[in-house]
Amino acid sequence: MKKALKILKKDSTKPGRLNTMNNPLLQPFDLAPFSKIKNEHYLPAIKELIATTKDQISAIADSQKEPTFNNTVEALENTGLQLDRVSSIFFNLNGAETNDEIQKIAQEVSPLLTDFNNDLLLNEALFKRVKAVYDSKESLDLNIEQNTLLEKQYKGFARNGANLSEEKKAILRKIDATLATLKLTFGENVLAETNAYELRLTSEGDLAGLPDDAKTAAAQIAKEKGEEGWMITLDYPSYIPFMKYAKNRELRKKLSLAFGARAFQKNENSNEKNVLKLANLRHERAVLLGYASHAHFVLEERMAKTPKKVTSFLTDLLTKAKPAAQKEFDELVAFAKELDQIDQLEKWDSAYYAEKLKQKRYNLDDEKLKPYFKLENVIDGVFAVAHKLFGLSFVPDTNIEVYHEDVKTYQVTDSEDELVAIFYADFHPRSGKRGGAWMTSYKPQQKTEMLDKLGVKNDRPHISIVCNFTKPVIEDGKETKPSLLTFNEVTTLFHEFGHALHGMLANTTYKSLSGTSVFWDFVELPSQVLENWCYEKETLGLFATHYETAELIPMELVAKIKESATFHEGMQTLRQISFGMLDMAWHGSDPSEITHVKAFEDASFAATKLFPDTPETCMSTAFSHIFQGGYSAGYYSYKWAEVLDADAFAYFKEEGIFNKNVANKFKAFVLSQGGTQDPMDLYVKFRGKKPDPEALLKRAGLIN
Ligand SMILES: [Zn+2]
Repeated sequence: MKKALKILKKDSTKPGRLNTMNNPLLQPFDLAPFSKIKNEHYLPAIKELIATTKDQISAIADSQKEPTFNNTVEALENTGLQLDRVSSIFFNLNGAETNDEIQKIAQEVSPLLTDFNNDLLLNEALFKRVKAVYDSKESLDLNIEQNTLLEKQYKGFARNGANLSEEKKAILRKIDATLATLKLTFGENVLAETNAYELRLTSEGDLAGLPDDAKTAAAQIAKEKGEEGWMITLDYPSYIPFMKYAKNRELRKKLSLAFGARAFQKNENSNEKNVLKLANLRHERAVLLGYASHAHFVLEERMAKTPKKVTSFLTDLLTKAKPAAQKEFDELVAFAKELDQIDQLEKWDSAYYAEKLKQKRYNLDDEKLKPYFKLENVIDGVFAVAHKLFGLSFVPDTNIEVYHEDVKTYQVTDSEDELVAIFYADFHPRSGKRGGAWMTSYKPQQKTEMLDKLGVKNDRPHISIVCNFTKPVIEDGKETKPSLLTFNEVTTLFHEFGHALHGMLANTTYKSLSGTSVFWDFVELPSQVLENWCYEKETLGLFATHYETAELIPMELVAKIKESATFHEGMQTLRQISFGMLDMAWHGSDPSEITHVKAFEDASFAATKLFPDTPETCMSTAFSHIFQGGYSAGYYSYKWAEVLDADAFAYFKEEGIFNKNVANKFKAFVLSQGGTQDPMDLYVKFRGKKPDPEALLKRAGLIN
């Protein structure tokens, strides 16, 4: 409120006043004022709010007062509140309800915000004050959360080179600029190679085995390219079904080799040199900042902490999962031999025979399950789970403004009827919404001083989940078939809802440590752990009834769902471990001696290899996760998060999946704590001990 008044006052002295006064994004608001926002409001509002926030920051940086935690660190934390809220509305809508105009605005807004953040991290006067507080932290008597905030702020500057000499700073900037370009080039090369390949098929027999929708899609691609017949590309939606279902082994081989050779051919799109350059520059950057390797730099801000820890985590998992993986592999070999007299099982046979074996074993398909998973029932189910575990109630509130009529809105209250959060749920696909499913927030949770300064107000968060589930069928304005979810969509809903609980139950002082603002390898614990409830009889009994007959899902189907969920888990685990190890090999030590990308990769894969190698393919040259995206020295976190969620759920299983005591502890030490403390400390407080990988191996049926 105070800040908003300041904005109005400031604006009143400006020539553009009328315009600004009419901009709803520059007025104080609690719920996002969707009905009032027009596209033309975003850019002026964000520019204005950046300027206001810069003023706030300058006031802190240029202060003549002795730097204290309160006048520097906490003050900095409290700058830009409205800027954050407006940017989150903008970027949330750019994901969920975008159009050409919004995308154009995004191209203007994004660099403004990047520059703003860079300026902040390069502000030397500000860093000097933060550092002064940081250097005296022992004598400040800060609580854990304050300490974490100080650490996070200081590290933000230091990891960006604030402590370096001018000369070294210049080198760092140069490395950063080169790295940014290299990553871009890496991605462009993979994309170019993906797009350059097409498998043209002119005889329908070549598509034997493919489901009808995959055939239709293949015909569609050919048509779009002005060709007769069918076409398969290296894009996942085209590539994956072909590898899984196509009978023709030679064609599978051709496609698989083309996929594996992306950016590894002697042409202008080769990423071999880029991989070496990226690894070396990352190492150089880390050393400049005082770390032993890029992985040391990255893992400093992860639960795993050190490369040594990650490596022993992966090696330990490998030792335990390898026998199960080998057994599954041998079974698959025997199955392929029996079915089609395959003498040597190759990479391009793996998905095909695995799918066949899975069908033989479980005969479970989506169509059988979908009638038990009507969307409304599943929503009731996930709300019932939240009620049983955490006493939450979800009360629909249609007075809350939405950005699209499909969005559902709720007031979330606790057992004392206190408001916990506002919850938005946006379930169905439409043009303007990107694919996939995600959780996001419109307003962070934080504790702010009351206007009368006599107490603290706990600002409750506004949380949203966005999904792309099948729409109900509507004819003549009447719903003729409801939205029926696949089991995969059911677990997706529980997953995103788990993230949402992390946001909704947040109870911290500072917004930058609140909710899902936690270390990367900890953030998937609440979401993944919640998926476990989907496989339990007790949970399915709450909601999985047939949409026409109201019959409860048959228990033999539940048993099959559970069994098939861990099908080939050993081989899957081995595959994830191999990628994690390759990532650590590239980033865990000095790469300057590496000359051959493929040879280096082969050495790293030696311990996890099941299928014969193909010399014409290479993983690293198209490993976008680690060379283009943000997963460098972070690929292990997929398995890490699974270990956490399996171990956490094992605790629930021991005490009862709706046990109040365990749920309370999970809320008190995990869901409400955000990133206020080291995640391992939080986990141990919840669980009573460190996570044990055996829980994952047991759940996966890899050990007894
Ligand atoms: Zn997630």
